Amino acid sequence: MKAWRASVLYFADPAQAVLETDGLLVVGPDSAGRQVVQAVGSYSALAPRFPGLDITHLPGRIIAPGFVDMHIHYPQLDVIGSPAEGLLPWLENYTFPHESRFSDAAHSTEVASFFVDELLRHGVTTALAFATSHPASVNALLGEAQRRKLRMIAGKVLQDQNSPDGVRDDTEQGLIDTEALISRWHGVDRLGYAITPRFVPSCSEAQLRGAGQLAARYADVWIQSHVAENKDEVAWVKELYPQARSYLSVYEQFGLLRPRAVYAHCIHIDDEDRALMRSTGTAAAVSPTSNLFLGSGFFDYLGADRTGFLYGLASDVGGGTSFSPFHTMLAAYYVGREGQTKAGVSLSPQQLWWQHTGGAARALGLEGVVGNLVPGCEADFVILNPQATPLLARKTAQAGSLDELLFALIVLGDDRVIEQVVISQAKSASGP
Ligand SMILES: [Zn+2]
Repeated sequence: MKAWRASVLYFADPAQAVLETDGLLVVGPDSAGRQVVQAVGSYSALAPRFPGLDITHLPGRIIAPGFVDMHIHYPQLDVIGSPAEGLLPWLENYTFPHESRFSDAAHSTEVASFFVDELLRHGVTTALAFATSHPASVNALLGEAQRRKLRMIAGKVLQDQNSPDGVRDDTEQGLIDTEALISRWHGVDRLGYAITPRFVPSCSEAQLRGAGQLAARYADVWIQSHVAENKDEVAWVKELYPQARSYLSVYEQFGLLRPRAVYAHCIHIDDEDRALMRSTGTAAAVSPTSNLFLGSGFFDYLGADRTGFLYGLASDVGGGTSFSPFHTMLAAYYVGREGQTKAGVSLSPQQLWWQHTGGAARALGLEGVVGNLVPGCEADFVILNPQATPLLARKTAQAGSLDELLFALIVLGDDRVIEQVVISQAKSASGP
């Protein structure tokens, strides 16, 4: 067993953070050999229970759960920051040309390696990621995540229509490839597979139906897609499915709403859609930097909480503008405050932090596995330096409460705050 002595941040309840200012985090193997949290609490109370422990002392530092990113596109690493007039021109002019290069395994591996390192550099230890329509792109990402022992979920994009040559797949072959990738990767080490229809307009009815059949056959596999990001996109879906009650209901008719189904954006939806999200256990990946960058709209937090469906935060790189969870949490605060298109709300710092850690894990069906530092959780955590910049040091020194401390980090923080990332190491099966 190993232990770290520092300030330790964890969640006692949803959005209820605890900061042990002189805390101890004890990590050791569980019965399956995974490194998990064995105990967390004050140093003075816990230290006598673990005599002879190997303790790393980090005065002035904060240990916090690794961040969980609910929606990100790894092949869009080089699309980040591309100028475009909204979602559909951005897809056509930047995204699809970049994604077409991932038929090449060497290119996929080079980008995947950089991408995973960039996630870690920003303190993101779990992500639900889109690859491209090419199976090689999934093998590259999950292979790189496996080498680093990360918990990562990814899927090959299904898009057999309204997509240019180079990224469009074949209806049947796309489904065959999906099932083969599930067999190869899902549940291997810390990896998971997500059935990944890009969005309604890019998939034929036959492909959506096949995706739903796979989702029924493999109930613990994830589903990831997009819904109601942008008004032009919503109008397009209305043309394709004039009988459907809403965009979201198209996914329902193909069996694609269920626990472990995660839909990015969920902006232009109504209360009936929200009730459908709740009743099916479907989660939203709120992507505020992307929504602000592409001018898509504002996620209605009060609407979500009124209905009570699951949601968490996501970077949505490359529509999103940053890998940094701090930037994403700050953008979520802006989106919450916006009060012209929906009711505005001032999200609390603890609520923002929860959305990117324990809340995101809960929305992914991984509560108690990642996103928190309570006993039993896998030991993925970040070591934060609240003095990382002169202004941050000045501001955090004046913090009179946990909310003030967390909000200073959210507003002023970036990758410089992430001093170290620790990943849960499973006992090697073949090791000595
Ligand atoms: Zn996306």
